[in-house]
Parts: sequence; C-alpha cells; structure tokens
Amino acid sequence: MSAGALALFTRDLRVRDNPVLTAAHREGATVLPLFVLDDAILAGCPPNRAYFLVAALRELDDELREIGGRLVVRRGDVVEEVARVAAETSAAVVHIAADVSAYSRARERRLRERLAADGRELRVHPASLTVVAPGEILPSDRDHFAVFTPYHRRWLEADRRPALRAPRELRLPRIAAGSLPAPDDLTAEPPSPGLSVGGETTARKMLRDWLAGAVAEYSRTGDDLAADATSHLSPYLHFGCLSPGELVRRVDDGTEFVRQLAWRDFHHQVLAARPGAAWHDYRDRAIRWRTDAQAVTAWTEGRTGFPIVDAGMRQLREQGWMHNRARLITASFLAKSLRVDWRVGARHFRYWLVDADMANNQLNWQWVAGTGNDTRPNRVLNPLRQAERYDPDGAYVRRWVPELAGIEGRAVHRPWRLDSVDYPAPIIEVPGM
Ligand code: FAD
Repeated sequence: MSAGALALFTRDLRVRDNPVLTAAHREGATVLPLFVLDDAILAGCPPNRAYFLVAALRELDDELREIGGRLVVRRGDVVEEVARVAAETSAAVVHIAADVSAYSRARERRLRERLAADGRELRVHPASLTVVAPGEILPSDRDHFAVFTPYHRRWLEADRRPALRAPRELRLPRIAAGSLPAPDDLTAEPPSPGLSVGGETTARKMLRDWLAGAVAEYSRTGDDLAADATSHLSPYLHFGCLSPGELVRRVDDGTEFVRQLAWRDFHHQVLAARPGAAWHDYRDRAIRWRTDAQAVTAWTEGRTGFPIVDAGMRQLREQGWMHNRARLITASFLAKSLRVDWRVGARHFRYWLVDADMANNQLNWQWVAGTGNDTRPNRVLNPLRQAERYDPDGAYVRRWVPELAGIEGRAVHRPWRLDSVDYPAPIIEVPGM
C-alpha cells in the first residue's frame, strides 16, 4: 500500500476543485488535511483578515467532516510544523498550491529542502490559485506579459485544467487534530462592523445567487457605485474558498466578468516574475512624491472634503471592502492628485481590505500611480467627474457619508457650494470645482 500524503492548505481553503486535496487523496493511502497558523504571517495579520480566516477554517473543517475528514491545525513556524506532522504520520509527499509572493516562494523553497532532508517530497500544484498558472503563457521576448490586452487574448485561448470534484471520502491517519483558532487567538482588535463571513459554504451560496442573478447585468452595472452590483467574491477568491477555475467554467468566456478574472491572473503572473514589484516601482518613472501627513490622515479617515473619495474610504473601514470604482477614485486621489507615494495607500488598504492580496493590491496601486502596467501612466481620475459619471444621483455618497444624507441629487458631490452644510473644506483644488 502507498504511504500517506499531506495536503497543506494555504490560501486554497476549499474541498471542491482543489488540486492539492485531490492529488493527496488520489496518491496517499491516508490524507492529512493540514493548516498551519504561520507565526510569520499572523504577526502582522490585521483584524479583518484574521476574522475571515477563522470563519473560513471552520467552514473548511465542516466540509472536510462531510467527507470523513477533518482539518488538523498547528501553530508556529510553517516549515517546522509541516516537517513534524509529516514525520508523525509517515507522510511521504506533501502537496501545496503554487503561489507568487516573495514570502510564499521562500516558504516553498524552505519546505522542499527541509522535507528532502527527511527523505520526503514536496509537490507543488500550479493553477490552484489562478485560472492559468503564472508563466504558462508567455510573450516571445520576455518572462511575463507587461500589458494586459495581449495577455488577455492568449489567456482566453490557454488550456485550462479539468474540473475536480471534492474527494468522496477521506481516510485520515491517526493524529491529534489540534483546535481551530478563535479570532482572539489571532488579533486583539475588532473587525469592521460590516465584514463578510469567510468560508467555502458561504462562498457557494453567494456564487449560486450571483450566477442566478446579477452576473447577467455585470457589464452594465459593474461600475455603478450605488448599485453595488459586483460579485463581492474577492475575499473568497483571495482565501481560495472558491476556485477561480470553477468560476470561469461557469460563466461565458466573452463576458466582462471573466475579463476581470483575467486581470487577477495578469497581476499574479507579473508578481510571480517580479516579486520585488510588491514594494518597488515596476517601472521607475522618477516620480517625486510629496510628504503630507495631514492630507494622508484626512484621506485615511474619509475627511478630504471630496465626498466621493470620503465615501470610498469610509466604506473601506465599515466593510473591510470597497467597490472597484471607489478603489480607483480613492487611489488616484492619493497618488495622482495629492502626489503621495502609492506605498502609503497600499499599506492602508492592506490593513483594512479583507481581500488584500499582494498581487492585486500592490499592482493595482502601481497601475493607478503610473508606475505599473497602465499603458497610459499619466491619466488622472478627476474625483468630481468620476462622481458625476459613476454616482450620478449621489446615492453612494449618501450611503457612506451620513453628514450629507439630507442633500438631494448630485449637489451632494460639491458640499462647499452649499451654505447650510457643515462638511470639511476640500484639502486641494481640482478642475471643475
Ligand atoms: P467583481 O467586479 O465581481 O470581479 C470579480 C473578481 O475579479 C474579483 O473578485 C477579483 O478577484 C477580480 N478582479 C476584479 N477587478 C480586478 C482588478 N482590477 N484586478 C485584479 N482582479 C480583479 N482586488 C483584490 O482581490 N485584492 C486587492 O487587494 C485589491 N486591491 C485593489 C487596490 C486598488 C487600488 C484597486 C484599484 C483595485 C484593487 N483590487 C483588488 C481589484 C478590485 O477592486 C477588486 O478585486 C474588486 O473590487 C472586488 O470586488 P468583487 O469581488 O465584487 O469584484
């Protein structure tokens, strides 16, 4: 009989369409589903992601129990814990999803070396966290695509791996499961009041509703701030509660929604090739950033005097999430209008966003700041024009900025023109005031 296998979950917290779990199940006499609460990651884990993670682990454990398994949890140094558990259960092979950040690449290298020293193997599964694995499609002259449109064309034609069902039944080796963490074990701070609940079970309900309804209208309503009609699936994709491969299989290729998922893969393949782009300019444009602590505080607190910017920044704190159009407006305001370094904004977003993702957050910030993959790096999103176009009646502003809730229509976007309104004065001037 073959030896046991260990399925090491990282940010692929699901049983369906999971190459790691499926391979461990197919190849091992027993399967050990393991999650390590990695001290190196948790040391800086903000409350929203900590709460979401705890809920996602709980739902993963429930899903595993449905098929005869359970989630084994350890805490400490991920490499040491995996090596210890693999030895304890005589697992010959450890399966893990390929990932792209510098940290995850180093983790993979360390794990491979440590396991090899014990006579064990690490098997890395590509296309677990993305639809198309980073590096699988390449232009003729370099190691990644720097421009989205040609990438998207090739992405649509690329081979995709077949769908994988959840294993029917798991056989676990004998081992103490360890207890699932509570939020307090990971953070002392409270989460955003409107934070979504993590997990595969929750994600599947959301997916069902999404596919049955709003996805059909996405190309028309995706940018409408007040309609709030995007999928809200980003945290579930970030933690892998949903497989991006499954999502694209269930939606037509030509749709705007699938194009957004291609953007997600695009940023992953950029970061895989340039891990340093997480904190260094992807393209050096010799921008001289301004230091302005007061303006940054006004921006983070949603008190810039521009209601559309303030609404986005307040949604971020209230929900741990922000509409994509608001992310574009608020990021452009900081990096282009205030000319503050994109890293300042990216750090703030990383603290609050439950979907905060090295590839998507950092490279979207660079895209907006003009140091990244935008082919028009000098574009500036004027907050007033953006407000008129994407929140024409002001309903998004009224939802998130209660001080302005009594002002009707688009007048809400220029409170400085109204006598009776007590609202912070705009911190800068922009065209069209
Ligand atoms: P939908 O509109 O329903 O799109 C479906 C999925 O496509 C999303 O869940 C997401 O996985 C992917 N997607 C959509 N737009 C993008 C995009 N521009 N780039 C990459 N993937 C995309 N997304 C994150 O997942 N994590 C982040 O940390 C993040 N930070 C961002 C920072 C800035 C400054 C900007 C401008 C965008 C950022 N985005 C990030 C991209 C995008 O705003 C979110 O993915 C989206 O708003 C999530 O909402 P949704 O799930 O309803 O998206």
